[in-house]
Amino acid sequence: MTYILALDQGTTSTRAIVFDHAGGRVSVGQLEHRQIFPQAGWVEHDALEIWHNTQEVIGVALARADITRHDIAAVGITNQRETAILWDRRTGTPVHNAIVWQDTRTQEIVDRLASDGGVDRFRARTGLPLAAYFSATKIAWVLENVPGARELADEGHLAFGTPDTWLLWNLTGGPEGGVHATDVTNASRTLLLDLETLDWRPELLSAFDIPASILPEVRSSSEIYGTVESSSLLREVPIAGIMGDQQAATFGQAAFARGDSKNTYGTGNFLVINTGDTPVISRNGLLTTVAYRLGSGETAYALEGSIAVTGSLVQWLRDNLGIISSASEVEDLALAVDDAGGVIIVPAFSGLFAPHWRPDARGAIMGLTRFSDRRHIARAALESVAMQTREVVDAAAADTDAPITELRVDGGMVANDTLMQMQSDALGIPVVRPAIAETTALGAAFAAGLAVGFWSGLPELSELWQEDRRWEPRSSEAERTRMLERWQNAVARTLDWPQE
Ligand code: ADP
Repeated sequence: MTYILALDQGTTSTRAIVFDHAGGRVSVGQLEHRQIFPQAGWVEHDALEIWHNTQEVIGVALARADITRHDIAAVGITNQRETAILWDRRTGTPVHNAIVWQDTRTQEIVDRLASDGGVDRFRARTGLPLAAYFSATKIAWVLENVPGARELADEGHLAFGTPDTWLLWNLTGGPEGGVHATDVTNASRTLLLDLETLDWRPELLSAFDIPASILPEVRSSSEIYGTVESSSLLREVPIAGIMGDQQAATFGQAAFARGDSKNTYGTGNFLVINTGDTPVISRNGLLTTVAYRLGSGETAYALEGSIAVTGSLVQWLRDNLGIISSASEVEDLALAVDDAGGVIIVPAFSGLFAPHWRPDARGAIMGLTRFSDRRHIARAALESVAMQTREVVDAAAADTDAPITELRVDGGMVANDTLMQMQSDALGIPVVRPAIAETTALGAAFAAGLAVGFWSGLPELSELWQEDRRWEPRSSEAERTRMLERWQNAVARTLDWPQE
């Protein structure tokens, strides 16, 4: 038993990755699934397509590593969070497409609930503001709008799950005894979990009119939930780790101690700071969430700063402006000038997330002169990523009274060395990229491996984490202050934008 298999069920694709004992990637299978946009603001996935892709990528990963189930000690699952799937337990048939985390169709339900107590009415209990982003209003929407769903629930036949739960249930037998469970990290993104007791909270269920019977059991992030059913290539292999994607990346970065953090640069950015064994309720626009719970042992909480647009701004330069032909070209273009020539981009395409949470903001390119060209725009795009990160790092420092002293980074954009230097300059602290960049899948593998004794404990995992490269700040305090003031000035000009 020399390997762990991690399933990474992401927003655009599903991957199976085989890791060895040193945390090295041995093989990978990957399949994309369809993005379904029935209306503006609606985003759906076909949950059965995701399940079929999962089975296929498992086969590909095993074949590419030239191994069988006998070589796999355990399976770990990580997943896109908040995405809601509801299905009939008797058949495994979903009653509706999965409603994806990005979907904003439930804003009306949010407004209705917020009219009594505001968007922070559940924050003390759940760590979250009321928002369409989290699972609860998505479940409520299905129960209210899909014919027959409420009746199925009343009869006890309906099951809800985020993608981790959906895969676990199917892998462990589906209608024939499938395990209906989730882990604390995924549960903490629903708006239904009590952060202190780590269980579903009856008042929250009644506020959203969601019956307890449809909910999975809340388990830890690292324990044996069940074994894979007999017709699978992985039959009898224990499933032993579950973590939502950002928490898994944090775990894969070995950010186990209070004050440890990581920042993931993908489509958007996600900063997560481990706050130790007590939840810290943010006063500065961050979310409070569970970082992990290992078996019956320790629970760690985290603060999270989500930024909506970072890597997707680079995609926008490529697809909408056409000033680059691939994402990596942005770096050469940005390096062709010494500075952005006064240009600032605030990419508030769909409002601003953390720490502002301003749905009324809209994107702007400012400071243009006759001198400005595409090189300055490329540079300003990268600077906007660094400055948005600076704002969430500052918010975290204000919430915890413990400044981040070094930022561990991962995600697609960290291939951009210029951006990493800008980030260090914007923050005034070192930025560190790990040798194993697959932190999300690795975190799920770590959780599963710990539960079956493949790894002995957190100290051993900490030793597997290795630095690839480090960037030290080259800016002065005065320069950093000036950059921040210019940025804040620009952000202020994107607010209160008249909506069409
Ligand atoms: P996700 O997991 O959200 O799909 P990834 O971690 O795969 O995202 O990162 C992809 C994002 O990174 C894309 O939005 C892309 O524009 C951006 N990206 C990839 N390479 C670079 C680069 N060299 N410089 C800047 N941005 C990049």
